Amino acid sequence: MTQKVDLLFTNALVLTMDKNLNQYDPGAVAVKGDLIVVAGPEAELKKEYDASEIVDCGGKVLMPGLVNAHTHVPMTLLRGLADDLRLDVWLLGYMLPVEREFVSPDFVRLGTLLACAEQIRTGITTFNDMYYFEKDVAQATSDAGLRAVCGQTVMKFPTPDAIAFEDSLAMAREFIQGWKDHPLIIPAVAPHAPSSCTPEILRATSDLAKEFDVPLHIHIAETSYEVETMRKENGIPVVPYVKKQGILEAKVIAAHCVHIDTGEMRTLLHAGAGVSHNPSSNLKLASGFAPVQKMLDAGLNVGIGTDGPASNNDLDMFEEVRLASFVAKASSNDPTVVPAVTALLMATRMGAQALHLGHLTGSVEAGKRADLILVDISSTHNSPRFRRDPNNAYAQLVFASKSTDVSDVMVNGKWLMRDHSLLTLNEEELVAQSYDIAKKIDAFLIAREQSVLSKLIALGGSMEEESFEVQVKAKIAEPDLIVRALMRPEIEITAFKHYRQYDDYFSFDDPSQGHLRFREDDLINDKGEVVNVRSRLTLLGRKREGKIGQDVLLSRSRFLAPAAHTLRFYREYFKPKEDISITKDRQRWHIRYKDTEFFVNLDRTEQPEMGHFLEIKSRTWSRNDAERKARMVNELLALLGAADSETVTQDYIEAIQK
Ligand SMILES: [Zn+2]
Repeated sequence: MTQKVDLLFTNALVLTMDKNLNQYDPGAVAVKGDLIVVAGPEAELKKEYDASEIVDCGGKVLMPGLVNAHTHVPMTLLRGLADDLRLDVWLLGYMLPVEREFVSPDFVRLGTLLACAEQIRTGITTFNDMYYFEKDVAQATSDAGLRAVCGQTVMKFPTPDAIAFEDSLAMAREFIQGWKDHPLIIPAVAPHAPSSCTPEILRATSDLAKEFDVPLHIHIAETSYEVETMRKENGIPVVPYVKKQGILEAKVIAAHCVHIDTGEMRTLLHAGAGVSHNPSSNLKLASGFAPVQKMLDAGLNVGIGTDGPASNNDLDMFEEVRLASFVAKASSNDPTVVPAVTALLMATRMGAQALHLGHLTGSVEAGKRADLILVDISSTHNSPRFRRDPNNAYAQLVFASKSTDVSDVMVNGKWLMRDHSLLTLNEEELVAQSYDIAKKIDAFLIAREQSVLSKLIALGGSMEEESFEVQVKAKIAEPDLIVRALMRPEIEITAFKHYRQYDDYFSFDDPSQGHLRFREDDLINDKGEVVNVRSRLTLLGRKREGKIGQDVLLSRSRFLAPAAHTLRFYREYFKPKEDISITKDRQRWHIRYKDTEFFVNLDRTEQPEMGHFLEIKSRTWSRNDAERKARMVNELLALLGAADSETVTQDYIEAIQK
């Protein structure tokens, strides 16, 4: 009695990637509907199964489709936008501002379809995504016919699809409810990372994932900076921290895990969490080398992911699998670790298990979904072929195959590619549309890059200071005389502060851009100890409103921003032509003169050694008042005995430069 099936694949080298790593050569696989009925020796299956259609594989490898364990698919549209940057400059300076401006349901759909085309071509049949408007990612993926875990992002910052995290959480709930039993899509929730979420968000997303029994996708310990910050702020490493917030009670997919120790590996294992290792992304962003062999030894399910195409820059799992093996060998100085078979297992069955989809896909076994690919291993770059050892086949696939050797792809029993032709997507049209988007993003960034101000605004948090600033700055030979003159009865001292200031003045090719000053103020107490540190960023415009008396300036174009990032970040982001560092000791008096408040600063410029400067300043909201104060600044200058001093109000930075 023969059994009726829809399809019988014959004449294939079948790599099942099942528990026993069974290989059949020549092998056959029977498919009925969306399911694999059996895999086995061709001769047996031909006798036992009566197929409506026979697919002669022509000696190619027939194997489970590859599982891309971590990505952000719509970012295909941001591929090649900004590269060779540090993670913070790349993310905060480019990705987030562009995403805020452009990411919409249409953007996400186009990017996803493009990513699906690329992934089908490289033999990926399942991927694990994290992005915004995830409902639209899911719809596009299901239209393309791929299998995916789709994680709706939740984080503490405003996102392209939500102003507040409560909104994204509600979106995630609605998305999960709507897609829960879809044949291809596994809806999920994705709290972005421990550092970009509050404890409240971590707890809420875990509760949501548990309520619907769906995966929870999160970035964990990607950089050493993240781990250091976590230890500094919470006194514990990343994994114990997320455990404390309830994250590990859900079915976790932890992306990266570059900087975790063996204790953290055990914690993840006990929680049943899966890991995605992303070698290209870790290499390109110099995040470090994930302890892959140690995680495998600990018993963790470690999959392999491409990460987003803006940090890779492609979705080529063949490249990723090869790197997973090579990087593990090189970084451990041991060529025996992560052999070809292990790397391929990570990209198939173990990857599916890491995504909590082991029951559905990842191997060619009876009862699993028919997610299958054919790979030609007879090309010049992959010849000749040895059959002595079963590992020869894995070595061919991992160390010599190219993603372009994938000729046919089936997902859920449905063909998505036959003989290199995509069946569900119009590649040409998608590529053309992506060029249109790129043009718009280019124009947006070109406009932004033209001005330091718009680059500053793009970072968020900056604000224009509308007030007039009245200011004079003079070179002083004898500071003690100034201090003594401040005791004059006409002057009332209301406060005194002592600072050490570290200033960096950025100047640009176009002087009309003004100067950008990064200032760290260290407040010093009377014992000489630093009691408070704050950093600010100020764009000092060149536009002056007027000059009154002795080089007293009225200026208005000042933009202030709290310096939330490091000096290094701003240097790499703004790329100044010149960066002048000044270290000075500042004594600051708040004074009242003729019922009007002024600041008097007495600076000792130490680095470079420039001697002493006296600065008198005030701020006001009206031009008339500014002019009144400007006259008083001239009077004060005389009162303090500095009327004859050389003023450098306008040209302070130039004076330093000289
Ligand atoms: Zn990622």
